[in-house]
Amino acid sequence: MSQVPTFPEAPPPQPVLLPATGTAAFWHRLPTDQKVAFISIDDGGLARPPAVAEFVWRARIPVTMFLNSPAAQEHDVYFRQIEVAGAVVENHTINHTSLAGRSYSYQKQEICGAADRLEALFGKRPTLFRPPFGEHDSTTLQAAHDCGAKAVIHWTETVHEGKVRYQTPEKVVRPGDVLLMHFRPALMDDLLAALKAIHRAGLTPALLEDYVR
Ligand SMILES: [Zn+2]
Repeated sequence: MSQVPTFPEAPPPQPVLLPATGTAAFWHRLPTDQKVAFISIDDGGLARPPAVAEFVWRARIPVTMFLNSPAAQEHDVYFRQIEVAGAVVENHTINHTSLAGRSYSYQKQEICGAADRLEALFGKRPTLFRPPFGEHDSTTLQAAHDCGAKAVIHWTETVHEGKVRYQTPEKVVRPGDVLLMHFRPALMDDLLAALKAIHRAGLTPALLEDYVR
């Protein structure tokens, strides 16, 4: 805990503009100049380090969890504790299969089926969607929209075993960037590495849902 950097106060969030096209927006990074970055944690079936909830609570970091609905259902108490600590649950399909190229009905079943289950478990319908492996097509954006998602969120950095991997040439976290990690055994190292990278860039962690309304 003592290693958690002290951040500048987050600015009052200015929500980004959503396209009025009847489909979900798609972003690698959020279109904002505000000095914020976003932390996301995916999946939920593989590993669930017990220290996450207390860490999120004590560090007061906003986090978005893109969960597969069977893992959320099986371990709902675990994820609810993190939610209470300051995280928001969002949608990552039921079965974690690639959606790109699949039919509308298949994609809608995977997205709406998970949204229905997550809404029943956590009392709030997801408003964001992340396709497994980031693999998506225009049908995904349509189905996500039809299942209640405002935006499909990709990422600009991945964090694994305490190491930040940049998907962009600048090798620095930029305003609006989205950092992706997973519920894996080294998640605590990943959270700390993400916070340090955000701090190095002069940014403050913020909540995706405050920017996509
Ligand atoms: Zn995933």
